[in-house]
Amino acid sequence: MEQLPVDSLIRNGFVITMDTGRRCLPNGAIAISGGRIVDVGPEAELLARYRADQVIDAKGGTVHPGFIDTHVHFMNTARGALPDTLETGTMMNVLRRWWDLSDLADERAATMLNCLEMLSNGTTCFLEAGTLKYADAAAEAAAELGIRGFIGDPFLWDLPISDGVYDMSRAARDLDRSLGLLGGQLKRNTAEKEPLIRGCVVVFGLGSASDELLLAAKSVADANGAILTMHQSFDHHDAGADAARLGKRAICHYADHGLLGENMTFSHMNDLDPDEAKLAAEAGVTAVWCPVTSMNLGAQAAKHARHLELRRHGANVSLASDGVASGCRYDVGFQGLVALLGTRAKGDGQQMTAMDVLELATIGGAKAVGMAADLGSLEPGKYADIVIRSTDLPEAHPWSDPVQSLVYNCGSKSVDRVIVNGVLVWADGHPQLVDAAKAYDEARRSHLRMLERLDMKPRWQPDRPQSNGLT
Ligand SMILES: [Zn+2]
Repeated sequence: MEQLPVDSLIRNGFVITMDTGRRCLPNGAIAISGGRIVDVGPEAELLARYRADQVIDAKGGTVHPGFIDTHVHFMNTARGALPDTLETGTMMNVLRRWWDLSDLADERAATMLNCLEMLSNGTTCFLEAGTLKYADAAAEAAAELGIRGFIGDPFLWDLPISDGVYDMSRAARDLDRSLGLLGGQLKRNTAEKEPLIRGCVVVFGLGSASDELLLAAKSVADANGAILTMHQSFDHHDAGADAARLGKRAICHYADHGLLGENMTFSHMNDLDPDEAKLAAEAGVTAVWCPVTSMNLGAQAAKHARHLELRRHGANVSLASDGVASGCRYDVGFQGLVALLGTRAKGDGQQMTAMDVLELATIGGAKAVGMAADLGSLEPGKYADIVIRSTDLPEAHPWSDPVQSLVYNCGSKSVDRVIVNGVLVWADGHPQLVDAAKAYDEARRSHLRMLERLDMKPRWQPDRPQSNGLT
């Protein structure tokens, strides 16, 4: 039998396909060509069937679809700038000013650092939350290091937010401005090029959009086969303000106005009443679960959040890291473990499993970004976005259940190699397409510039006690 040529072939892996049968293949292999998966199967069969330009030895490690982080703000250059004693309102106000004063170089540095962190944790695709100002520079930075992602319309809003902490000078709260920018990022979605960085429609949310803006955004998303994503129902204050303004609960209002559907990706969804949960599930919307942010910012509604119930009744649920100060790490596996532990702490019998975490992080994420046919599992025809795990660490032994191992025990520590679009982009603890040291240096310089602009000092200096004037 003549062997078929392929670009690369991953062999000697324990392949978790995440296909509909949740097939796992010990001694599995994956053939890749043109950035997509050609075949998945037993190693002996694929080695006989294909002649690969490059053979990648998974060294017996777990191989799984890349994680998808479905709500991220590129701001981790602010990491460590604030004491962890600040109350939420004060912290958000400092971060709002950080956002306001960031220039193009700062946003580029933050994007690069965020994307490096995501890749290192096995995330191969992100959904940016619509809070960039220099979207082209950010898209360029992300594409340079080879991650896949979606960038959204920047700060579209035309109503005040109930808690006031998001009042910003960089983006006027204005309907005409928002309508003018709406759908602008969809320019990236050219079918011929199959770009790594695509655009989607984003409205900021949290009650900051009029019906006119929301309806226009939904219409643009529908017309372009894109998703529309927004913050929604984070806690009692914004959900309550929505209900007071609209005369009914927000999701019920959206159902009345044709604003639900499978291309709606709502971030948070902590504060839903039973009617809203039913409508959201029936419409098949995505609820983006950001458990660490909810805990860290003390969202009281999250204690009674209905993500598992939503999922059971037909909604899609995905995972996300959200922002730097709230989400702690741009690490979907970490978010999934915290979500799982939260369900167990409740003790209501609705426990998540390690496989649930993997589903939310892969298949759930793919649906959330509108690419269920192209991402989320290792199947022929899908993009080759793949994580190879190492077995060379104590937490990986004695190796028995690969899914439990990666969720409970190893976390991102076992991420060894990351492939996006068929290209090796992370290996041996380093990005393969960009210089990490340069990116870290630019992030540090941006951090110091921002502190100066905000009249703050670095928190830790060898010659003085921990302080930056905020406490
Ligand atoms: Zn957010």
